[in-house]
Amino acid sequence: MTRHAYVTLVTNADYALGATALVRSLKLTGTTTDIVVLHTGGVADDALRPLAALGARLERAELLPTSEAFNERHQRARLHANAPFTKGNKPAFHTPLDNFAKLRLWQLERYEKIVFIDADAIVIRNVDRLFGYPEFSAAPNVYETLADFHRLNSGVFVAKPSRATFEAMLARLDAPDAFWPRTDQTFLQAFFPDWHGLPVFFNMLQYVWFNLPELWDWKSVSVIHYQYEKPWEANHPRADRVKPLIELWRAYATGEGIPDISTLANPGAAR
Ligand code: UDP
Ligand code: MN
Repeated sequence: MTRHAYVTLVTNADYALGATALVRSLKLTGTTTDIVVLHTGGVADDALRPLAALGARLERAELLPTSEAFNERHQRARLHANAPFTKGNKPAFHTPLDNFAKLRLWQLERYEKIVFIDADAIVIRNVDRLFGYPEFSAAPNVYETLADFHRLNSGVFVAKPSRATFEAMLARLDAPDAFWPRTDQTFLQAFFPDWHGLPVFFNMLQYVWFNLPELWDWKSVSVIHYQYEKPWEANHPRADRVKPLIELWRAYATGEGIPDISTLANPGAAR
């Protein structure tokens, strides 16, 4: 066991598939740090097996004990109606309430520092130096404009486990009438108003590929995060626009044909 860990969360078979690509990609960076997959009862054993085979530590976690009223406010149809997603689409297998279970990582006090990474991301170069950043560090939620730099994306962040922090979070999270339109992301930004900014390359959002292509540089991109549509999704509405990124994800998911990153062409480059 190491004192640092990469942690991800899976609450169903779709995200377990995502995590398979993530865990393989992390291992290929040469890291020797523990990789922990928090999983709920919603994931069958056969969906978890590939993760264990790749060397991840599986850890059972429950969804948070939030109130009935909180759960109703954050129920998928209601959240989508009250805070519509206008920039992209969430797959049918995405349950907003499940996102909050990420906060369980603050209970893992056996680790001194944790780097959380969403199950819909891949790591293409070693990022162990993230453990040198303080709590709470996250990259900006950049995928359209410069103004995006003011908000954080909760797909990659650095945290320091602490039961006391976890208890304080639960109390704040489920305050009367609390509504977190972008779930854990909105909550974490409110809970850590003085969050530290990580370089954007530690959490490159897939829409940068077509919205802000000049920001994409394979020399520095370390984590690719497939926010909104997932690379394994059937009838992916933006598949044509992010085709090279989907191909890259598939290579990590299957372990076959993983390219040398230095041979990849930036978006818009002459091919
Ligand atoms: N997640 C999960 N099951 C769900 C929803 C979310 O396991 O039903 C976990 C998973 O790790 C996922 C993360 O929470 O990557 C955040 O959700 P997602 O990545 O779909 O959100 P986006 O990045 O599109 O905002
Ligand atoms: Mn994500």
